[in-house]
Amino acid sequence: MKYLKLLIVPFCLFVFSCKTDKKETNTITAETVSEDVSSESESDTVETEVITIEATKEDVRLEKKPETIIKEVSTPKTTKSAVTINPIFHGSLVLEYKNVVIYIDPAGGAKAFKGQKPPTLILITDIHSDHLDIETLKAISTKGSKIIAPVAVADKLPAGLRSKTSVLSNFLSKNYTIGSAYVTIEAIPMYNLRKEAMKFHPENRGNGYVLTLGKERIYISGDTEDIPEMRQLKDIDIAFVCMNLPYTMTIESAADAVLDFKPKKVYPYHYRGTDGFSDVKKFKSIVNEGNSAIEVIQDDWYEKSDEV
Ligand code: ZN
Repeated sequence: MKYLKLLIVPFCLFVFSCKTDKKETNTITAETVSEDVSSESESDTVETEVITIEATKEDVRLEKKPETIIKEVSTPKTTKSAVTINPIFHGSLVLEYKNVVIYIDPAGGAKAFKGQKPPTLILITDIHSDHLDIETLKAISTKGSKIIAPVAVADKLPAGLRSKTSVLSNFLSKNYTIGSAYVTIEAIPMYNLRKEAMKFHPENRGNGYVLTLGKERIYISGDTEDIPEMRQLKDIDIAFVCMNLPYTMTIESAADAVLDFKPKKVYPYHYRGTDGFSDVKKFKSIVNEGNSAIEVIQDDWYEKSDEV
C-alpha cells in the first residue's frame, strides 16, 4: 500500500501537469481563432489594432522593455489641417489638398467660382439644380477634370461631360493617386426619412461622400435626413451637414445626428429652405450643449448670391 501511494503521487503530478499544458494550448488556440474571425469581418483599422496589440505582447514577454515600446507608439499630434475649405454658396464648395482641387456640387454659374483653381475632381451628389448644374459644369470643368457622380446624375449628363464621369454608387469607394496626394472617395447614402419628404430624395439615388485626404476624413452630407448611415460614421475630422425644410431636415435632427457621429468640426451648409434660413445659431448651441468639443463653424454661405 505504501508503495502504491508512492506511485500514485507522481502519477497525479504527471496528469496534472499534462492537463495544465493542455489548458494553455486551448487558450492560445481560442485567442488565435477569435482574432482571425475579427480580422476577417472588421475594417482595416481594427486589423491594424490587433497587430499592434500582438507586437506589444511579444515585446513585453521577450524583451521586457516597456519603456522602449511607449517611445515607439507615441507620435507627435498635428492639429493643423492640410485641407483648405472654400465655401461657395448653399451646397457648393471647393476643397484644396496638396495639388488636388475638389469642387462639390458646383452650381449657380461660373462667376461664383472666379478666383478658384480649376477642378481636379468634381463630385456631384444629386440631380436637383442646386447640385447638378450642367451649364456651370461645362463652364468650370477642364480637359483633365474628372467627375464623380451617382448613376442618376451620370444619366443626365451630355456626352462631353459623361465621358469624363466615373459612376460611384452608395457604399462603394474609389482611390486616386494624384501627384503626391492620395485621395479616397466613399459614397454614403443620402435620403429623406419623413414620409412627406421622401419624394424629394428617395433612397439609392444620390450620394453623400466621405473623402480621405491624407490623414483627414471629410464628410459631405448631400441632401439627407439624419439617416443611420450618417449616425454610424467614424473618425470624421470635418463634416458639412445640410439643414433646410422641407427638403432635408430640421436643425434638431441635424444636431442629434452630429452628436452621434462626433466630427471634430462641423459646418452647417445648405441651410436655406422655402421659409428662409434655418437657425444655425440654435444648431450650434444644441451641439455644444451636448458636446463642447465639437467645433461648429458658421460661415455665411449666402452672401455671394440671391439665388437658392
Ligand atoms: Zn439641395
